[in-house]
Amino acid sequence: MFELSPHHRKIQETARAAAAEVDPFAGEADASTVVHEAAREALRRSGLARQVVPAAHGGASETLDPLAIAVVREALMYSSAHLDSLFGMQGVGSYALTVGGSDELRARWLPRVAALDAIAGLALTEPDIGSDLRGVTTTLASVSDGVRVDGRKSFITNGGAADFYCVLGREGDGDARGHSMVLVPADAPGLTVRPGPGLIAPHILGELEFDGVVVPEGNRLGVPLKAFSLMLQTLAVFRVSVAGSAVGLAQAALDEALRHVTVREQFGRPLIGLGAVGQNVALSWTDVEAARALTYRAAALAQSDPLGHLDMSSIAKVNATEAAGRVVDRSVQAMGRFGLVQGSKIERLYRNARPLRVYEGATEVLLDSLARRLAKGAS
Ligand SMILES: Cc1cc2nc3c(=O)[nH]c(=O)nc-3n(C[C@H](O)[C@H](O)[C@H](O)COP(=O)(O)OP(=O)(O)OC[C@H]3O[C@@H](n4cnc5c(N)ncnc54)[C@H](O)[C@@H]3O)c2cc1C
Repeated sequence: MFELSPHHRKIQETARAAAAEVDPFAGEADASTVVHEAAREALRRSGLARQVVPAAHGGASETLDPLAIAVVREALMYSSAHLDSLFGMQGVGSYALTVGGSDELRARWLPRVAALDAIAGLALTEPDIGSDLRGVTTTLASVSDGVRVDGRKSFITNGGAADFYCVLGREGDGDARGHSMVLVPADAPGLTVRPGPGLIAPHILGELEFDGVVVPEGNRLGVPLKAFSLMLQTLAVFRVSVAGSAVGLAQAALDEALRHVTVREQFGRPLIGLGAVGQNVALSWTDVEAARALTYRAAALAQSDPLGHLDMSSIAKVNATEAAGRVVDRSVQAMGRFGLVQGSKIERLYRNARPLRVYEGATEVLLDSLARRLAKGAS
C-alpha cells in the first residue's frame, strides 16, 4: 500500500475538515448551478486553493504537487461534487496561465485564484467540438489594439461565475497556422455568457460567445500557434486529480452501502450476511483500494515529470472513474428500494459519478490513446 507522507497527511486532514464543514449542506451545494457561497467560504477558510497555484504567486509549493491535489479532491468529493469542482477548477482553469502567462498577468490573477477571490475557467469545448480539440473553430487574431477572439465555447465549468477564462482557439493560415491561447476577463466587452443545460448532476455550466472580443497582447498564454502544449501540460497535472475525485466518491458510496447492509435485516440476518450482498460490498472495497493505490502512485509519478507520466495519469483516471461507476451501482443495488429514493445521498452519488467518465478525457478516448502508445511499444 502506498503510504502518504506526513506532509500529505496534513493536507488530507485540512481537506477532510473542509469537507466535513460542507457535509451538512452538501445536498444543497450539489444541486446548485451557481457558486454556493457557504461552500466557497469553507474552501476559502481552508486555504486549500493555494495547492493549485505556485508559491511565487501566493500558492503552497514551488511547483504544483499532483499528489496533494489528488488527495484534496478525494477528500472533498467524499462530501460534495460542488466543493470538489470549486477546488479542482481553480487549478484546471488557471494552469495555462501558470505555465504560459507573462509575469505581469500571473501577478495580477494568480494570488486572487489562490485566495479564491477570483474564479477560473478553461474554455476548450465548442458546440461542435468535444474530444477532438485540435478541431476548435474559435479564432484568435492579432489586431492593432491586441488579440481578437471570435467564436463559441460550450459546457464551460464556472461559466457565468468565473472572473476569467483561458481560451483555446486557432490562429493564422497556411503554414503559419496553429493553436493559441489567451486569457479573457469575464467582463471583456463582446463576451456573452448564458447558462448551460441542466445536467443529471447539476454543475455550474456556461455557454460562452465571443463576438469581436479584444484583449491586450499581454493576455496571450504560451507561444502563439504553439499553445496546444499548454493543454497537454494542464492534463498532465490535473487528469490524475479526477481519479482522486473518483476514489472519494467511490469510498462515499461504499460507506453508504455498508451503513445500510450492516443494519437492515432480511431472512433473519443483516443483508451483509446474505452471500451476494457481502460479496458485492467486498468487491467494492477491493475496487476502492485498488483505485486509490493506483491514483496515488500515478499522482506521485506526475509530481516529478507530469508529461512523462501522462499515460499513468490516463490509466489511473480510467481505472478510478470506471471503478466509481461500478461501486456506486453496486451500492444502489445493495440498498434495494432505499437506494432509489430521490434526495438521498446514494442517489446524489449515483448521479455525480456519471460525468467523471466523460470529462477531462472520456474513457474510450483515453483507452484509444493508450492503445496507440502500446502499438508504438510503450508499456
Ligand atoms: C460536467 C462537465 C463539465 C465540463 N467542463 C468543461 C470545461 O470547463 N471546459 C471545457 O472546455 N469543456 C468542459 N466540458 C466538456 C468536456 O470536456 C467534453 O464533454 C468532453 O471533452 C467530451 O466531449 P463531448 O462531450 O463533445 O463528446 P464527444 O467528443 O462527442 O464524444 C462522445 C463519446 O464518443 C466516444 N469517443 C470520442 N472520441 C473517441 C475516440 N477517439 N475513440 C473512441 N471513442 C471516442 C467517447 O465515448 C465519448 O464519450 C465539461 C463536460 C461536462 C460533462
